[in-house]
Amino acid sequence: MFFSGFSYQHHHQPGSGSPPGDAAADPYDDGDHNLTVLLTFSIFLSFILLYLVAGIVWASAVTACAVALSICYLKVQRRRRAVLRREAALRAAAGGGPGGVAAVAVSAAIPAFAYKREGAGGGGGDATGWAQCVICLGLVQVGEVVRRLPACKHLFHVECIDMWLRSHSTCPICRAAVEPADGQPEPPV
Ligand SMILES: [Zn+2]
Ligand SMILES: [Zn+2]
Repeated sequence: MFFSGFSYQHHHQPGSGSPPGDAAADPYDDGDHNLTVLLTFSIFLSFILLYLVAGIVWASAVTACAVALSICYLKVQRRRRAVLRREAALRAAAGGGPGGVAAVAVSAAIPAFAYKREGAGGGGGDATGWAQCVICLGLVQVGEVVRRLPACKHLFHVECIDMWLRSHSTCPICRAAVEPADGQPEPPV
């Protein structure tokens, strides 16, 4: 009532000098002004907050996406590596790898025999007849089953050279191509 009376007076006599009520009307105007400022400020603040929140959400989303993407990428890479490893292992097992089929066939073609001390023993051996298997670095004991590579006459434990020939097609000592005992040329790798 009080304010509306002054408001009425204020709005309907805008240019009529300065009525004594004007000084009392000022608090009303100030309140209105304060309210407007407060409203503007809160709208402004809420916009800032909104932008901040939106920014944080957006940044979080982008970060999450980046992290997810990199994790996916790493997983794919790991899977691809695992697949490649498995394929390599399968190839090696099937004999398709470097020295693969040929080497397995070759190692089967090289006769195995029980080692007995004799002159010019073989890999690392000398005229006194001892021999060392360079794959396991152990001395070849009399009676152990060995294979002698036909090309270079190097001597190894049968299990050592068979393991070696699963992934190689050359002699571990002299790198000579391992060929079948019957002198067949090594099939193309
Ligand atoms: Zn050995
Ligand atoms: Zn050799």
